[in-house]
Amino acid sequence: AEKLLTDREKLVSIGQIATGIAHEVKNPLTAVKGFLQLLKESKSHPYLDMMESELEKALATLQNLLQVSKPDLHEESLVPIDLCQELESLLFLFQERLYNVKLEMDLRNSERKIIGKRNLFLKAFFNLIKNAIEAIQETGKIKIEHYYQNEWIHIKVSDTGVGIPEDKVKMLGTPFFSTKSEGTGLGLTQVFTTIHKHGGNISIHSTIGKGTTFHIQLPVR
Ligand code: ADP
Ligand code: MG
Repeated sequence: AEKLLTDREKLVSIGQIATGIAHEVKNPLTAVKGFLQLLKESKSHPYLDMMESELEKALATLQNLLQVSKPDLHEESLVPIDLCQELESLLFLFQERLYNVKLEMDLRNSERKIIGKRNLFLKAFFNLIKNAIEAIQETGKIKIEHYYQNEWIHIKVSDTGVGIPEDKVKMLGTPFFSTKSEGTGLGLTQVFTTIHKHGGNISIHSTIGKGTTFHIQLPVR
């Protein structure tokens, strides 16, 4: 029988193919870079430097795609994380972009920590806040709040931005899904894989023209 793939399934398989290609292409490129470096030891030429920097760009792109879709969680990289403190340290990165956005934050009482990979969470919240800022067209508000419930910390990131059409909500998190002309469509993929790899959940509520809330739930110690 014929089976039609849903949009989401299509994007998931595109994501898997892309990850596979990234993996296959990375090894030969890394080899080329190695030989190039050897060549540079015996011969200097401006083209060689240009080749090296272009290769590095390509490798960084591949590395980024691989990390987003398959974050590795080695035991030794897992540390207790104070999410509230991390969020606060992130916000100053956005200072310049927050001139038209009112930021409301409730980040006290975060004595209970989650266990995880710090960099992944920094990136994930960076991606969420960046999206929230980009969703706000003229002025608006971003609210970050948290509470504890049993063995879980709940974090909500809300914005008063453009919102997401209902039929698009189910596409979120699939690699390369973007509605922005300059978007990569990898931000939410990184968010989803990070939350899921740490045993958490994420849900999205959005109303067109009103705004969007990302609700994250993670186990705490
Ligand atoms: P990118 O930001 O590069 O487009 P993301 O994975 O971060 O990729 O987001 C994917 C898409 O999800 C965005 O293009 C946008 O359409 C939608 N989106 C994500 N966050 C929000 C938000 N807070 N408000 C409205 N739309 C959003
Ligand atoms: Mg984004």
